[in-house]
Amino acid sequence: MTGSSERNWAGNLRYAAARLAQPTSPEQVCEIVAAAPRVRALGSRHSFNGIADTTGVLVSLARLPRVIEVDARSRTVTIDGGATYGQVAPEVHAQGWALANLASLPHISVAGAVATGTHGSGDGNGSLATAVAAMELVDADGAPRWLRRGEPDFAGAVVGLGALGIVTRLVLDIEPTFEVATTVFSDVPWDAALANFDDLTAAGYSVSLFTSWEDDVVRQVWVKTRGAAAPGHLFGIAPASSTHHMMSALDPAALTPQLGVPGPWLDRLPHFRMGFTPSNGAEIQSEWLLPRSATLEAIARLRRLGPLVAPLLQTAEIRTVAADALWLSGAYGRDTVGVHFTWLLDVPGVERILPAVDAALLPLGGRPHWGKCSSAGVADLEPLYERFADFRALRQRLDPQRCFGNAYLDRVLGP
Ligand SMILES: Cc1cc2nc3c(=O)[nH]c(=O)nc-3n(C[C@H](O)[C@H](O)[C@H](O)COP(=O)(O)OP(=O)(O)OC[C@H]3O[C@@H](n4cnc5c(N)ncnc54)[C@H](O)[C@@H]3O)c2cc1C
Repeated sequence: MTGSSERNWAGNLRYAAARLAQPTSPEQVCEIVAAAPRVRALGSRHSFNGIADTTGVLVSLARLPRVIEVDARSRTVTIDGGATYGQVAPEVHAQGWALANLASLPHISVAGAVATGTHGSGDGNGSLATAVAAMELVDADGAPRWLRRGEPDFAGAVVGLGALGIVTRLVLDIEPTFEVATTVFSDVPWDAALANFDDLTAAGYSVSLFTSWEDDVVRQVWVKTRGAAAPGHLFGIAPASSTHHMMSALDPAALTPQLGVPGPWLDRLPHFRMGFTPSNGAEIQSEWLLPRSATLEAIARLRRLGPLVAPLLQTAEIRTVAADALWLSGAYGRDTVGVHFTWLLDVPGVERILPAVDAALLPLGGRPHWGKCSSAGVADLEPLYERFADFRALRQRLDPQRCFGNAYLDRVLGP
């Protein structure tokens, strides 16, 4: 199978890979890496930039035998490197357990999500990578090695951008299963939201604000409560009495249930249901992860950019993420607010305005999401990550020949 016709999920990128390999055992993964001078893991293809690409062999782990082994004693689940959240979550739940948080969609591979610092929302919820207790990495020599939480390289390797090797096993923390209820509030005035931002994001276990950046209101606030009722009102606004899509023209059938009806974590924490196209499908995405202390200034700057961004925007979402200690995580070292953009699938149009959004947010400490679109390069990114030089040193040690290198990594990490 040649890679020349292979595209990412959004279709905005054609992979340059010479070949797509689909090994059916971890041993085959090792053989492929050992034999190929340039190689790269491919997850479920949901990134919007060239992060997953290579000029050599793309390795999809989707055909590995699925491993989903719950260990109640250590409160962990061990999974293979190709499994998606949509495959892992039902099995974990069926055995009475839960993952602490999920992204907006369950369709993505766990290893791919972890590699880019993918996150959901919640003041107390770390990015999805913070659930990783250990992982097995096939290194540039084609040899598997385990990295465990607390070991020296671990915090550098988890959000690894696929730059250090191919992850064939992940061990994730789990907790007893729990219920969540999603309640939506419409047209919350920006003035009230900004004056009470910390109370607003604390109103639930996971909270999302959807905006167009040009209204006087936050169009929708989604409050996902865990084991507690949603607030009866937000600033005097009553909960919505029908299901709301954040992109109002789209069919709400693709969404997980709302209306404050409690249900299992896996059916509420993601916005989108398995079996449906998540989001719109025709889109590109960007996101910047900022220190919470910069929230009000970032929102003020983006509202001023409203007339520039709104014509290309389908929706924008604001979420929060708890600080972590993973070197290249967007939330490394600081409680974080994420400002996300779902753009129209207009590549030249979005590329034209990205520098303006980068110029507004990078100086505030905004770290571009590794799997989404930004114009930032290594000179912009290096000052944003305290452990950037340490990551580059780790990469040099584990992959001196840049077996896992690609053009995207050259741009964001340097050669
Ligand atoms: C509709 C939609 C909604 C989204 N919602 C969110 C959201 O809520 N929050 C958020 O933060 N992001 C979100 N994203 C972005 C998405 O979570 C990230 O781009 C994520 O990395 C995609 O995972 P993937 O499995 O598709 O990985 P890919 O895009 O295929 O690859 C991403 C990176 O992971 C590496 N990788 C994949 N598998 C492995 C492996 N086994 N070993 C080593 N490296 C590996 C690749 O080499 C590459 O570097 C969304 C994307 C889409 C399309």
